[in-house]
Amino acid sequence: MSRLISMLRLKCPKCSKGDLFVTKGLFRYSRMLDMPEKCSSCGQVYCIEPGFWLGSLWTSYPIIILTELPFLLCALLIDSVNPAWFFGGMLIAFVLIYPVMLRLGRSIWIHLNIRKL
Ligand SMILES: [Zn+2]
Repeated sequence: MSRLISMLRLKCPKCSKGDLFVTKGLFRYSRMLDMPEKCSSCGQVYCIEPGFWLGSLWTSYPIIILTELPFLLCALLIDSVNPAWFFGGMLIAFVLIYPVMLRLGRSIWIHLNIRKL
């Protein structure tokens, strides 16, 4: 459970004390991917190999799918409303959830790859 909380609070996967990102919070639209090189508390290096963060695409993708799927299903199943409204909703939801997708995706990815002390 503490690992899940550490993941959601964007904390270091090893010690759960240091911050993963320079700016705190999931909804940050500026400097959203700025990360320190290593944990300020335990010294764990965050980018453990070149290209490490490319793997976080696999953990970001389900977040955006879960966000957009209800709009897509509504557009397909509800005939009384113009589907353009749902596609507009998809676009707005994407813009709103974009930093969450990137930051939480990275947090999940690093928590999957680095074990806790
Ligand atoms: Zn740490």
